[in-house]
Amino acid sequence: MTGEMVGFTVDLSKPLVFQVGHLGETYQEWVHTPILTSESPRFFESDFLEILTRTVWWVVPVIWVPVGLYFITMSYTMGHSLPLVVLMAVVGAFVWTFLEYCFHRFLFHIDTESYWGNTFHYLIHGCHHKHPMDGLRLVIPPAEAAILALMFWNLYGILFTLSIRPVMFGGGLIGYVMYDMIHYYIHHGQPTKQSLKSIKDKDRNNTYRPACPVLKLYRIQNKGFGITTALWDRVFGTLPNTKAADKSG
Ligand SMILES: [Zn+2]
Ligand SMILES: [Zn+2]
Repeated sequence: MTGEMVGFTVDLSKPLVFQVGHLGETYQEWVHTPILTSESPRFFESDFLEILTRTVWWVVPVIWVPVGLYFITMSYTMGHSLPLVVLMAVVGAFVWTFLEYCFHRFLFHIDTESYWGNTFHYLIHGCHHKHPMDGLRLVIPPAEAAILALMFWNLYGILFTLSIRPVMFGGGLIGYVMYDMIHYYIHHGQPTKQSLKSIKDKDRNNTYRPACPVLKLYRIQNKGFGITTALWDRVFGTLPNTKAADKSG
């Protein structure tokens, strides 16, 4: 696999993941030019890898709500009062909203142009910008979420005491589930035709309608990173505004 191939075009009828790297420095422009159909393109030739990339939305609450509640309960059985446990769970979920902002701003939107850089970016987030209405590539696949959760479980072991750690972690998981459900709802909770219509309107008259930041900001890639809340966009001055959208369009 080499880097950029001059004049390379992606063949959308073939598995995408090992193609996008060849776009080199034209990758970012390609990936931020969305295809607004609900089709779910093939990522890998391998059926096994392909299955790992597709997740039905309800799998997220089915798996992660019980896990979250298990950890929250753990702090209760370790001796903390119920009100304190509930409060700490809410704080844990609030911490998640900050993590969500940081992930989307600093990791999901890293500028890439090398073969493997593009490939990595496409897998973690680029695919959602290319096919924003692909309902099976929207929530975080459980295997990927489990790896991230394990990292944070270890990090929380350094940051918190033995009995506070589980409830902060569990609250964070509940916060994550809320995020993925809200994000899914923004894309698919309304009639698809309507959401497609608002994007098409944006294309035609440059009007600015509420939708997923990913959808409405495909032309401005440096604003609007919060999904669950706009709070952190306010705090860090990345709240989108219409004028910016017009200029960069
Ligand atoms: Zn989105
Ligand atoms: Zn994004």
